[in-house]
Amino acid sequence: MIIITRPNISPEELNHIREHIEGLGLRTSITHGERQTIIGCIGDDDLLREAPLLQLPGVESVTPVMKPYKLAAKEFVGGRPSLVRVGDNAVVGGKDLAIIAGPCSVENREMFRETAFAVRAAGAGMLRGGAYKPRTSPYAFQGLGVAGLQIMAEVRAETGMPIVTEVMDTRQVEVVAEYADMLQVGARNMQNFSLLSEIGKTQRPVLLKRGLSGTVKELLMAAEYIMAQGNRDVILCERGIRTYETATRNTLDIGAIPVLKRETHLPVIVDPSHAGGRADLVAPLSFAAVAAGADGLIIEVHPCPEQALSDGDQSLSPDAFSSFMQSLAPFVAAAGRTLPQLVAAEIPA
Ligand code: PEP
Ligand code: MN
Repeated sequence: MIIITRPNISPEELNHIREHIEGLGLRTSITHGERQTIIGCIGDDDLLREAPLLQLPGVESVTPVMKPYKLAAKEFVGGRPSLVRVGDNAVVGGKDLAIIAGPCSVENREMFRETAFAVRAAGAGMLRGGAYKPRTSPYAFQGLGVAGLQIMAEVRAETGMPIVTEVMDTRQVEVVAEYADMLQVGARNMQNFSLLSEIGKTQRPVLLKRGLSGTVKELLMAAEYIMAQGNRDVILCERGIRTYETATRNTLDIGAIPVLKRETHLPVIVDPSHAGGRADLVAPLSFAAVAAGADGLIIEVHPCPEQALSDGDQSLSPDAFSSFMQSLAPFVAAAGRTLPQLVAAEIPA
């Protein structure tokens, strides 16, 4: 922590600040400038983080030098990227680009199953689908709840693909963790600290989405909440933030990808569907995300987007997803990554 004093500080005030810092268990190093004095606080920044230092007479500014996140920080694991295993056969954060695809909401068994086989044939390694949906309107389709989770689990058994689904509330954590391979924290819940802590007590990997107005630091602190409870398997997701721009549903913050890769060992994936809000933006936003270093993509696919109960405008049809995956390949190669191997195409009878 570095404290800069006001220009006219008295020797008594300076002494009081020094004694206060030392009383909190740190050492001080004082440098007198021409106008201001700089007090370097040496020791654990955490001891000072909550201290109201601006209240001390003569203090002008206080600047932390250590990062507030520890478990999520890159240095915590010696600078190596972490791999997160999801279900039996998916890994995020390695050379293979992780592709998660599926509908916004699980609407019924048939549509989920059809989507699952189609996205698997096109090269997706994991399935997404919402059983509990955070809708802006209380009158909009809210998801099938436990019935939706059961459908997802059945389709996992048929396809072998791990399933990712959102948990909106602490009361749902137990049941969602029972069915899902990975728990999604939605953008609207990035700072629901009781939910983050509860999820941190489970053994399930977590897909943590960036909040609509969450900063990179707040996203990392949200990950820290989960990790502090013992669950270290967190994947971060950039899904666009709210800005003054209205031409896209959200503004995909491409810059956040390299910044996160610099700051944390956790894998970073991108959701181009919720970022752009339109099917025609999914491909270009995905190409940019891969070029910027994303470890994976999560994409909404619906067997008939025009009839989707949620997020139809941004959903790709199975054919569009398949073409998209082909157009993605050169970008994946250029980024020095690989796509997982394709598996059998047909839906069994
Ligand atoms: C979703 O994944 O369908 C969703 C609601 O995403 P977000 O929380 O990013 O809006
Ligand atoms: Mn959606």
